[in-house]
Amino acid sequence: MGIFSINCTAINIVLSLLLLTPSVSFGQSCGSIQNCNPNIMFPYRFCPPGSGAPVYRCSNNPNNEPGFSVYKVLSMPACAKLTRGSADPNSSTMEDAVGNRIEVNDPSAWDAIVDQAIDKWNCLCNFTGSNSSSTSCCLQIVWSENPSDFEDATTRLGEMQNRFAIGTTCGVTCTGGVLRQVNGFPLIVLNNTQSLTQKNQNSGLLRRSLYTGTALPVGPTNELLARGFTVYSLRDVMLHELGHWLGLFHPDETPDCAPGVVKTGIMKKSVFGNENPNELSDQDKCAFMKLYCPTLTSVEWDEIVNDDPNVGGLLLHISDDIGIIRNVECDVNSVSAFDIQGRNLGDMKFAFDASSKRLEIDFHNVSNGPVLVEFNCSGRQAPIRRLFLVQRVN
Ligand SMILES: [Zn+2]
Repeated sequence: MGIFSINCTAINIVLSLLLLTPSVSFGQSCGSIQNCNPNIMFPYRFCPPGSGAPVYRCSNNPNNEPGFSVYKVLSMPACAKLTRGSADPNSSTMEDAVGNRIEVNDPSAWDAIVDQAIDKWNCLCNFTGSNSSSTSCCLQIVWSENPSDFEDATTRLGEMQNRFAIGTTCGVTCTGGVLRQVNGFPLIVLNNTQSLTQKNQNSGLLRRSLYTGTALPVGPTNELLARGFTVYSLRDVMLHELGHWLGLFHPDETPDCAPGVVKTGIMKKSVFGNENPNELSDQDKCAFMKLYCPTLTSVEWDEIVNDDPNVGGLLLHISDDIGIIRNVECDVNSVSAFDIQGRNLGDMKFAFDASSKRLEIDFHNVSNGPVLVEFNCSGRQAPIRRLFLVQRVN
């Protein structure tokens, strides 16, 4: 868990602050699942029949769990919006070192960040998102100066509240313009406590803030950086906490989503400051799609390996509609593709060279985005299925 190093000498504290940008944590409000068998791909949330409380289980194939269905939180369009209040940085501690109003207070910049965060998840799997301000029934986002709102107010940038609350019904409802889920209303709290934002009394260096926009605001005109603040991407915070709302866990606390998918990305527990915003990783995409895309739950990962050094994990770069997969261990005799809803996209033209184990597939009938490719091989009864994120590079 990335936290500030405080168990060292005073001089080390100063050096580490000067040489490294300290990391802080994202919040996860109500425990985590860490007890899945390592051979089980992913922990899922389930709704039992009727109106029982959602439960957490480990499974490779949750759609076939008798008596349970995968707990998909979002049965309505997703949106999120900031609610201003007494802890609003406009009126409290989120000014810069000389009292200037900082960029995060710009409402239009704020809306843009929330929209970007929703869209990042939205584009993966027909997940329905809407922008932050067009409807009233939204996930609420508030600033808080109350340390008790955070598991650790000195290191948590934000926290998703009521994600894991156990209630009596599953799903999300909109009642009287108020968004409700299992046991209350979902809420993202952004840390505006003095213990996070204020200067450390000993070192004088620990002031932290958030920045909006799609890049780190560098340059001599940036008051925050010029005066030694550490700034963190607001979009990263929103992406992370929205990920929790969607049902995702910290990858560093859960089994591998898939072999070869590196446990990093926006859902990792901590983040370093003074960096550009991060993008969703293959781990993030894998976890999201396993939860929301039912056809992907029986994917096998062995035997078909995409080992292009330029392409990691799920991502498949294709050029001129041709995707190349190497180290194919089985003798391929047919290839077909399915979209994320399980619709058959038809047989794929392919060329397989058994000696070099090189497979070329014609993806001309497949759009960019997630696609499930099914390989039938000689000597195997069951097909091999592999999820790819297709991305054209020309
Ligand atoms: Zn978290």
